Amino acid sequence: MKQPEKLKLVDGKLFVPDNPIIPFIAGDGIGPEIWQAARRVFDSAVNKIYGDNRQVHWKRVLAGEASYQDSGSWLPDETLAAFKEYLVAIKGPLTTPVGEGHRSINVTLRQELDLFACVRPVQYYAGTPSPVKHPENVDITVFRENTEDIYAGIDFESGSAEAKKLLNLLKDNHQENKVRFPETSSFAIKPVSSEGSKRIVRAALNYAISQKKSYLTLVHKGNIMKKTEGNFKKWGYEVAAELKNQVFTSVEYNQIKQQQNKTAADKAQLQAKKDGKVIVNDIIADNFFQQSLLHPENFDVVATLNLNGDYISDALAAQVGGIGIAPGANINYQTKRAVFEATHGTAPQFAGQNKLNPTSLILSGVMLFEYIGWNEVALEIKRAVATAIEEQHVTVDFAAALPQATELSTSGFADYLIELM
Ligand code: NAD
Repeated sequence: MKQPEKLKLVDGKLFVPDNPIIPFIAGDGIGPEIWQAARRVFDSAVNKIYGDNRQVHWKRVLAGEASYQDSGSWLPDETLAAFKEYLVAIKGPLTTPVGEGHRSINVTLRQELDLFACVRPVQYYAGTPSPVKHPENVDITVFRENTEDIYAGIDFESGSAEAKKLLNLLKDNHQENKVRFPETSSFAIKPVSSEGSKRIVRAALNYAISQKKSYLTLVHKGNIMKKTEGNFKKWGYEVAAELKNQVFTSVEYNQIKQQQNKTAADKAQLQAKKDGKVIVNDIIADNFFQQSLLHPENFDVVATLNLNGDYISDALAAQVGGIGIAPGANINYQTKRAVFEATHGTAPQFAGQNKLNPTSLILSGVMLFEYIGWNEVALEIKRAVATAIEEQHVTVDFAAALPQATELSTSGFADYLIELM
């Protein structure tokens, strides 16, 4: 067996050795049990596909409660350093410490590593219980901006010196009468930059082009927040214009419609589709919630700001089985650093019961294997997950809605997937 090696960045590309070292955080609450289950599935799939030729060396690093008990730190410097050094990592859910001054460990990781793209594919697996009639029409990948927006953490408490300073600034700019109750208002600041907006839209567009998707939709609330969300849309279309030969945008459509007529614009869009171009359009966020519920088939790839993306990915996940099956990745496409993670939390009330669904973390692993180019492994795991769900061998969250299902424990579900490989 070859020596374990680090992943490296070579000429801007990820170099993946046959025996890569990949750090993991097992996580808090149900984290350790879903991680154990997921890890066995990963190792089994790698072994089935590559035999002795390839193997992942999982390197345990600490964060969250386990780390706090060990060292008094929720996110030790060594963990951050390992995530930086080894480039690609995976994690279970972590408790957000409650109390003044405590920032979410997840948000800190995303900010410190500048993991600007939160990528969440939302896809239906046949047999999954769903509250909608046609969940099979949902196949949408959300690219959520991960480092800006109201999540920047610039919050001023009502009555504080900072809030008063901000009010004075508003007075200087003759804006204070826009604040309905100035003396009792708290404030939060929403930074949205052209760099931040453009890099997330570019990532989403590159994905849409490489995966031969039909649509990229910019979701925003630009009708109200013109300078932030409105500019996100504007900058998004500027990025699309850079890739003129590979896209057809709503801006082009409207120009043709104005200069000629609707028939000519429809014809041009149809031709662009035939030529394999990605159609880039935009939609106001509230309308997106409605349309993605009524006609999810009209959306393929979505690029959006941080808060919109948070709501959107959970709402879409609910259509295809909920957070027990929703994977995610946080990626910086320049540095190639990436952290793959389940989108749910620690579900502390179920910790130690070997009960909940490890699929969210397992499918996050699938994304990791795709990211490092081990596509056969990713496919093998996806195939096993699809078969298990189709055969209704599932954990309690699905079994509760499927009267004929065979209910499996967390580890039992992993055993079943391994049997299927
Ligand atoms: P949660 O996601 O932990 O749990 C909410 C409910 O979702 C659970 O009660 C359970 O019914 C269901 N659920 C969660 N995971 C499931 C799974 N794998 N299979 C089936 N059902 C599942 O949300 P919460 O209770 O609001 O948060 C608990 C803790 O998790 C908090 O400390 C929170 O800050 C943290 N959290 C962490 C992350 C993360 O690490 N990325 C994300 C969200 C919340």
